[in-house]
Amino acid sequence: MIMPPMAEESKAPRPRIVVTERASESAVARLRSAGEVTILTRCDEAALIAAAADADAFVVRTYSEVTARVIAAAKQAGRLRVIGRAGVGLDNIDVRAAVEAGITVVYTPAASTNAVADLVVSLILALQRQIIRGDSGIRQGEFASLRAAKPTPVELRHQTLGVIGMGRIGRAVSHRLANGFGMRVIYHDIREIGWLPFVAESRDCAEAVYREADVVTYHVPLTPLTRGMVNTESLAQFRKGAYLVNTSRGPVVEAKALAEALQSGHLAGAALDVHEPEPPPADYPLYSAPNCILTPHIASRTTESLAAMNDVVDDVIAVLSGKEPQYPADSEQY
Ligand code: NAD
Repeated sequence: MIMPPMAEESKAPRPRIVVTERASESAVARLRSAGEVTILTRCDEAALIAAAADADAFVVRTYSEVTARVIAAAKQAGRLRVIGRAGVGLDNIDVRAAVEAGITVVYTPAASTNAVADLVVSLILALQRQIIRGDSGIRQGEFASLRAAKPTPVELRHQTLGVIGMGRIGRAVSHRLANGFGMRVIYHDIREIGWLPFVAESRDCAEAVYREADVVTYHVPLTPLTRGMVNTESLAQFRKGAYLVNTSRGPVVEAKALAEALQSGHLAGAALDVHEPEPPPADYPLYSAPNCILTPHIASRTTESLAAMNDVVDDVIAVLSGKEPQYPADSEQY
């Protein structure tokens, strides 16, 4: 007897999709329409190695440790076809090992660009205009003394913005600050950057940016080259009185070295949304550093950005259905 095609298809086992960390209800519902969904309560390496035994897909976020050992376990089990990263930083996934093992990695490169860029602008303004100091001071009866303090030359239209990493977020930040606030923009990137919708001058090394910039902002991925790139030696190249903003990844900055540069007055201020480790320990050197704004890795936490990050499930489903994903990761960058 010849089976009708529909009946044959329905016999194919549904893919098993493992979700770590949080995913929106709508994202989970979309995944359930494509397979059997398991939501893990842990996202450490051991939990993922165990899950790799019978998963066809992983959907992960910032803190899931998709290491070479997880990929090796998945390769041995022979099932995992796709890893979806809701977000942009791929430093928690061994992308190279995954691609070599024939596992597609997909992500949402543009989901948080605007959210992060907005936060960067607000951090620069908050630092330079002493907004946090003003808020706590007024509540402590310092209204008159704060108004009597000598004003400082902090209008952005007279300043140079230094951008390290002129990718999506670096451009969105530069666009806002060059075209909206009149800042001069200089940048360093390891890639050739083509046309930009604002005026910006390229520099062939980060140090050349440090020597000229009033504010340096980091928009690089975490790679062996960028890990620890802000250290005692590189901070010494900064102009005295400059500001530093890091919304990229915590390990890009050596926190102790930055705290020392702030204590000595070499840097006028710093703002960091990302830390190493997260959450930082009680003795985090930046807790006691002067004019230092710390936020708890919230740059991409807007409704719009989170919704766009959850859309990674569409690419996961595409791969499971044998279709081309929209946003496969480039293993060369990591
Ligand atoms: P992107 O890939 O578009 O841009 C990164 C740029 O950095 C690229 O142009 C690349 O060539 C450049 N680069 C890489 N190594 C470099 C180096 N050593 N020196 C100079 N430039 C270098 O990425 P994006 O979308 O702009 O995001 C940048 C990073 O921001 C992400 O990798 C992620 O780690 C971080 N991020 C943080 C948050 C947050 O919540 N704080 C949210 C989103 C992204």
